[in-house]
Amino acid sequence: MTLTVQTDPGSGAPAGDAPQTDDATAPRRPSLSPSRAADFKTCPLLYRFRTIDRLPERKSLAAVRGTLVHSVLERLYDLPAAQRTVEAAQELLEPAWAELRVEPGVAELFAVAQEDGAETSPSAPESVEAWLLSAGKLVEKYFTLEDPTRIQPHGREELVEVTLPDGLRLRGFVDRLDVAPNGALRVVDYKTGAVPREAFEGKALFQMKFYALVLWRTRGVVAAQLKLLYLKDGDALTYAPDEDELLRFERTLIAIWAAIERAVATGDFRPNKSRLCDWCDHQAVCPAWGGTPPPFPVKAAAAAGWPTLPIVEVG
Ligand code: SF4
Repeated sequence: MTLTVQTDPGSGAPAGDAPQTDDATAPRRPSLSPSRAADFKTCPLLYRFRTIDRLPERKSLAAVRGTLVHSVLERLYDLPAAQRTVEAAQELLEPAWAELRVEPGVAELFAVAQEDGAETSPSAPESVEAWLLSAGKLVEKYFTLEDPTRIQPHGREELVEVTLPDGLRLRGFVDRLDVAPNGALRVVDYKTGAVPREAFEGKALFQMKFYALVLWRTRGVVAAQLKLLYLKDGDALTYAPDEDELLRFERTLIAIWAAIERAVATGDFRPNKSRLCDWCDHQAVCPAWGGTPPPFPVKAAAAAGWPTLPIVEVG
């Protein structure tokens, strides 16, 4: 298994968002994931920088910790049910970390954090050991929310994807999918940050509704429960969508995609200055912060399968 750092504000572009193909010979086709849809809603220019320009972004200690904890919880379910104990989960940290620390940019992250004394906050851990301990605490907290000896997941880190009748391709990775004997679906997502304030709760639900829509369109079953597990606070948020809501949500995604296509066709990706800019790696090339974006990468966009591209004058 290859570990890839998960996406959060400020982390790198994730798998599932880049244009993908089902096989090597199929024409490339852009797709939409929950995080990239959220990017466009937050700031169209951020979407462009991440998805089309694919500008590099710094990893963050928080994002790498999230990847590590997700990996441990995924591996936990490889063990026979009776062996899924807190101790066994803690023992999974080391091998998962051994894989993750060789990823580009991860070792450097600790060098910077230790040099600076902290990454972004004075309370940030300063050593790998302290950081690993903080990951271990999140793993331990998981056991206060669920009893893994009583759960047999149907899927873990499961790719879910569908192409809607109008051609929009949706794809994403579900942390865990449970299927009850009666066929009822439960979608579970692990969050390693704190429970969001109300304003940000919508973003987490947006992601879960996205998965529920794809599952509904591929399996014909509306998920009985969408469950977000907040490991930092030891809290859970559950939600039961219905068909009407998923239909409305589908229309929302189609509208977002139409807006993205318009922006690609015109090259007009507007910046949307907000307090989320504090976590954006691209202020230096953002007009909202006095910067100049690089020229629209026409060739990269064409190679990624965008059918209509802005006319760029070459002087
Ligand atoms: S700095 Fe703010 S406005 Fe500029 S691209 Fe980033 S999120 Fe958008």
